[in-house]
Amino acid sequence: MKEKLAKAKVPLNSALREEELRQDAWEYLDRVKEVSTGYRNHSLALQQKQRILESLGGSEKDWLDWKWQLKHRIKDANQLGMILELRQKEIQFIAKVSKRYRWAISPYYLSLITDNFRDSPIYKQAVPDIRELKSGGCLDPMDEENSSPAPCITRRYPDRLIINVTNQCAMFCRHCQRRRNIGENDSHCSREDLQKALLYVARNQEIRDVLVTGGDALLLNDNIIAGILSTLHAIPHVEIIRLGTRVPVTLPQRITPELCDILRSYPPLYINTQFNHPLEITPEAKEACDRLIQAGVVLGNQAVLLKGINDDPIVMRKLNQELLRIRVRPYYIFQAKDVVGTLHWRCSIETGLEIMESLRGHTSGLAIPTYVVNAPGGRGKVPLMPNYILSKEEDVIYLQNWEGRAISILN
Ligand SMILES: *Cc1c(COP(=O)(O)O)cnc(C)c1O
Repeated sequence: MKEKLAKAKVPLNSALREEELRQDAWEYLDRVKEVSTGYRNHSLALQQKQRILESLGGSEKDWLDWKWQLKHRIKDANQLGMILELRQKEIQFIAKVSKRYRWAISPYYLSLITDNFRDSPIYKQAVPDIRELKSGGCLDPMDEENSSPAPCITRRYPDRLIINVTNQCAMFCRHCQRRRNIGENDSHCSREDLQKALLYVARNQEIRDVLVTGGDALLLNDNIIAGILSTLHAIPHVEIIRLGTRVPVTLPQRITPELCDILRSYPPLYINTQFNHPLEITPEAKEACDRLIQAGVVLGNQAVLLKGINDDPIVMRKLNQELLRIRVRPYYIFQAKDVVGTLHWRCSIETGLEIMESLRGHTSGLAIPTYVVNAPGGRGKVPLMPNYILSKEEDVIYLQNWEGRAISILN
C-alpha cells in the first residue's frame, strides 16, 4: 500500500522529465564512444613505446628516467620520419619549419601517437606544421616584455605575479604563446636574475601569490626547485606558491619521489598543468598526479582551446570529466591569442562560448572551467560566459537556464 501511494504521488511529468534527462545523457554517451582516451589507447601506446625504445636503443629502466627522456627528445625530422613512417614531403616540411622554430618531443609523449597519426591530437600539438611559416600575428600579444619590473618577472595584477624560471620544455607545444622565449637553446634564468626576482617578491609585501613558470618550471633540477621554493616559502607575505608545468602530460617520469619530497615541504602548493585532450590522460599521467596529490599538492588544469584538437563539445566534456577522475580540477580554458605561427589553431570566441554552454548543466559544475581571453597589451585575463540574462527590468530579471528555458526572478 505504502509503495503504491508513493508511486501514485510521482506526477506524470516527473517520468517525462526523467526521459528527457536520460535522452540528453545518452546523446552524449553515444557520441563520446568515438573519442579516444589515454586509457583506451594504452595498449597501442605501449607497443609504440617498444618501437621507440628499439629505435633509440633504450631500456625499460631508461624509459622511467626523466633525464634519459629529456636527453632523447626527438628533434630531428628524419628521426621522426623513421619512427612514424612519414612521407618524404612531410619530413621536408618539418625540416623547413625547424629552421625557424625549434621543436622537441619526449619519447613518452611521442609514444601516445599511435594509429591514424595525422589526425592525432598529440601529433598536432607536437609536430611542426608548415602553416607555422604563414605570416600574421604578433610575437608578444600580452606585452609581457613591458610588464616586467624585475628580471624574469611578469606583474600584471595587484597581489600576484609570475616568475619565468626557464625556457625549457619536455615538448615544445606548436601552439605555444611564449614562442618568442623558446629560442634555439635551453636556457634557465641565471642565478643572478633569479636572485633579483626573489628579492623583488621579498621587497613587495603586497605579493601574496607567486606563480613559478616558464617554459616548464619542473624542468629545473631538484636543487634549484628546492632553493626557489624554500626562499619563497620563507617570505612571510607569500601565502601560496603555484607552479606551471606540463610534465604530468608530456613527461610524467619527472614526478619522482625525490621531487615530491621537496614539493611536500612547501605547502600550500598549487600546480596548474595543461591537458588539452582526453588522449593525454593515460595511466602514467594519472600515477604522476597521484604522486603529486600524495605530496599535498592541489592540481588544476589550464586547457587551451585548439582548432581540430578540442574545439568540440563532446571532446571538451570528456576531457574535463576525465580530469576529475584523476583529481585534477579544470581551472581555465584559454582562448588562443594571435601569436605568430600559431594562427591556424585559433577558434572563434563564438565556438568557445558554444562549448561553455554545452557544459553547463549537462555535466558536473566541477567539470566546468572558466573560459578566459588574455586582453591585448597585458591587461589581464577576461572571463567569457554564455549569456544567461535575457533582460532586466527594475524588479524582475529574465534568465534562461542551461536548457534555454526562460525564467523570471525578482531582482
Ligand atoms: C594568469 C596570470 C596570473 C595568474 O592569474 P590567475 O587568474 O590568478 O590564475 C598572474 N600573473 C600573470 C601575469 C598572469 O598572466
